[in-house]
Amino acid sequence: MQILDGKQTAEQIKAEIADEVNRIKARGGKVPHLAAILVGNDGASETYVANKVLDCKQVGFDSTLIRLPADITEQALLDHIQQLNENSDIDGFIVQVPLPKHIDETRVTLAISPAKDVDGFSPASVGRMCLALPTFISATPNGVMELLKRYQIETAGKHCVVVGRSNIVGTPMSILMSRNSNPGNATVTLVHSRTPNMADICRTADILIVAIGKPDFVTGDMVKDGAVVIDVGITRVADASKASGFRLTGDVHFESVKTKCSFITPVPGGVGPMTRASLLQNTLKAQALRDQL
Ligand code: NAP
Repeated sequence: MQILDGKQTAEQIKAEIADEVNRIKARGGKVPHLAAILVGNDGASETYVANKVLDCKQVGFDSTLIRLPADITEQALLDHIQQLNENSDIDGFIVQVPLPKHIDETRVTLAISPAKDVDGFSPASVGRMCLALPTFISATPNGVMELLKRYQIETAGKHCVVVGRSNIVGTPMSILMSRNSNPGNATVTLVHSRTPNMADICRTADILIVAIGKPDFVTGDMVKDGAVVIDVGITRVADASKASGFRLTGDVHFESVKTKCSFITPVPGGVGPMTRASLLQNTLKAQALRDQL
């Protein structure tokens, strides 16, 4: 079994992006600028956004963090989004989710200009991805594809089972794996909470991608010998032995699966860092895409 090291691969990608930023600076070009809107004080969201700002610093991007109170009205948030849409200095921006209950996430997603939608969540971005047109691809599925590519995992003609059908992970993952591309060209089965005989289907997977948010859900008996296993799940599980009071746990039971699979992503250090690197890749390509979207 070989570890698919997302942490190391993400560092490589960041080094490549930093080189590109230096080239941009050398020719007097504009350094990419990512903005993030954070509404309220959710602990995990604070960490995610802080990491995104740190990542920007590491590669030499400009970044702007806009903090808004949890009780902000939906209209006031939409006004901030409109300002970012119109601000030519900002190449791309994200609105960190989850948002407070009184704000409609769909309305927020729809308000983001497709030209600056570096999270790749807007209907325009998703539609263009389905048609294999240039666009921003949602960071997590894009990060998984990049990991498969860099480890030269053969995907053509393989049976890929994707567990979970969310708009930001499972569904785009299934589309990307079935596209006529490399990686891609897999025969894809997408399973979800209404799928009977899920364990049987998982056992037929050459490539198993799990994104459900249920710690240790996939166990060794659900995995075929030699399968490639990608664990997207990240759940904070209480752990008194940690200073933080929690540890991060994936959807795959690592100990029982590692003895059966050929490759596996660890949690942490697998898909998470690749997601962060993908957001930087999307921001880097925002200037080039702006004229096409
Ligand atoms: P989500 O929106 O909650 O979607 C979960 C999906 O899993 C749904 O489609 C649901 O099915 C399915 N599901 C739930 N229980 C199931 C079961 N017992 N059997 C089969 N399918 C089941 O979650 P998400 O946003 O996709 O995130 C999934 C996990 O990935 C979470 O742990 C999240 O924290 C993590 N994540 C990690 C990264 C990263 O960078 N590593 C990025 C994003 C998300 P239904 O549609 O039928 O309800």
